This record gives sequence, structure tokens and C-alpha cells, in this order.
Amino acid sequence: MTATVIDGKAFAAKVRGQVADHVARLKEEHGITPGLAVVLVGEDPASQVYVRSKGKMTVEVGMNSFEHKMDADTSEEALLKVIQDLNNDPSVHGILVQLPLPDHLDSDLVINSIDPAKDVDGFHISNVGLLGTGQKSMVPCTPLGCLMMLRDHHGSLSGMNAVVIGRSNIVGKPMAQLLLNDSCTVTIAHSRTKDLPGVVKQADIVVAAVGRPEMVPGDWIKPGATVIDVGINRIDAGLKEDGSPKTRLVGDAHYDSCAAVAGAITPVPGGVGPMTIACLLANTVTACSRANGLKEPEGLTA
Ligand code: NAD
Repeated sequence: MTATVIDGKAFAAKVRGQVADHVARLKEEHGITPGLAVVLVGEDPASQVYVRSKGKMTVEVGMNSFEHKMDADTSEEALLKVIQDLNNDPSVHGILVQLPLPDHLDSDLVINSIDPAKDVDGFHISNVGLLGTGQKSMVPCTPLGCLMMLRDHHGSLSGMNAVVIGRSNIVGKPMAQLLLNDSCTVTIAHSRTKDLPGVVKQADIVVAAVGRPEMVPGDWIKPGATVIDVGINRIDAGLKEDGSPKTRLVGDAHYDSCAAVAGAITPVPGGVGPMTIACLLANTVTACSRANGLKEPEGLTA
């Protein structure tokens, strides 16, 4: 079998189009422009790239983008004051604090100081609790993107066996919760799981969120299963013509061997990655609609 490739880039473009339509309606019918504020502390190069690209896409869908750049040695007090101001600012509907924060800042304290209704990353303890009890919440962007792709591919997920490899708070746990809320039978596997190949082999849906390059080979996959590869790993890829080192991105699944067995698979790059920012924009327009007591955009929430 050769797997259907789930094109996350095209899907993300579609989601951004839906967000843009909803933003246009909010502006025309209600005179409201959704706003997303991103707070970046320090100068981590990868974080700077993410923040730039988030800002660009926010503007492209017609929303207001607010960037707050703070020095790496910013005090907790100063950061909490910025968040408080954003919580109180009615033109800001979504607040995202770019992680990781410098070591001297307490990430949990900072995240939990965001107004849960504006917590478009879905990391606030209230949103985690709401998701865990099947109530309306803000849902973390990466697992939301995975869920959207799975629903689009399968329709109903009810009764399917899902194995999520990885138990992080930002991907593995919320992913498992979302699949459970969609009536899958869910197993969370992690670094201490016994017989991981045997566990994965039971799955109709495998979500790999580990951070280990090409860890999941095709012979772990049940024929016809769907593989959602969340991993983003940069590995060596020999030398360029000029002799300088070359790298390439790979996922947590070994793509070629998994694609030969699976029914469907997301590639890396071009799978889950593009969906994450699209879902951030979706969450912002959802938060804006909720804040104004208006109908939420259809198909953009869990
Ligand atoms: P993390 O390091 O917080 O968690 C990794 C998890 O993998 C842990 O729960 C650990 O128990 C598990 N694990 C480690 N070794 C294992 C092993 N040998 N067998 C089974 N499980 C093992 O990572 P994270 O933040 O959840 O991210 C996971 C991957 O997803 C990373 O590659 C990251 O770059 C990527 N990621 C991608 C996006 C995106 O937008 N596509 C977003 C977030 C994370």
C-alpha cells in the first residue's frame, strides 16, 4: 500500500482562508477587528523567526498584530505587568507568550497570568481543565491542527484505536484528550512504555510527538493506519557543493517505510507544522467571537 499524503500546507491555507472570511464578517457586520498580541522575551533566533511569521500571517488574514519584544533579562514583574495590560486591552483578543522563556522566569506562573479567554495557546490551567472535562476551551494549536486533519481525512474518529507517542503538556496530553473527546480508544505511550512497537501496531491512528528523528519505522505501523507526524528534527545531510554542512528536516516517523504501509501520512515538512500557525489564527478569531458574544466560526474549533 502507498499512503495518501495529507497535505498540511494546503489544509493550512484553507484554514487561513476560513479565518480571513470570518475576520471580514466581524469587521463588516460588527466593526470588530480581532487582535493577536505576541510577547517575545529575549533573542532566541528560532523564536524570533516564529514570531515574525506569526505576525505576518496575522496581518494577512486581516487581524491586528501586536508585538511586545522584551529584553532577555526582563524581570518577572515587568513581564506580568505587560500581560496584565494586554488582559485589560479590549483590542487584544489573543495573547501568546513565546516559549521557551529565559530560565529566570517561571513559565507556569507567566502562562497562568494570561486571561484564559485570551489564552490562544490553550496552555492556561483553566483551559487544560476545561479540555480535560470536555468543556468549551481554548485548545493548544498543534494538537488542534492534528485533530482537524484527522477529522477531514476520516470523518468520524469514533471507536478508532489511537496511540499518541509523547506525553508533553503542549502536544501529547492535549492530543490524547482531543482524541478521547472524539470517542477514540486512546493510549499514551512515552519513554517508559514497554513494547512500544507492539503498542503502536494496535493503532488505527498514530500520533508521533517525541522529538527523535525517524524513530518510528514502517514495521511498527498497522497496514492502512494513519500516521500524524508532529516531530520537527533537523539532521545532518552531508555537505553542500561549497563544502559547508547541509541539514534537512525530518519527522519522528521514518517517512518512506511508514508511507509504504500506512493508509495516510503527514509529511515533514509540510504536514503538521503549517497547521500550528493556522490554528493559532483560528483560536484568535474564536476568542474574539466569544468575547463579543457572537457565533463562533464553524469547523475551526475542537
Ligand atoms: P517533549 O520533549 O516535551 O516531549 C517528548 C515526549 O516524548 C516525552 O513525553 C517523552 O516521554 C517522549 N519520549 C521521549 N523518548 C521517547 C522514546 N524513546 N519512546 C517513546 N517516547 C519517548 O516534546 P514536545 O514539545 O511534545 O515535541 C515533540 C516533537 O514535536 C518535537 O520534535 C517538536 O519539535 C515537535 N513539535 C512540533 C510542533 C509543530 O508545530 N509541528 C509543535 C510542537 C512540537
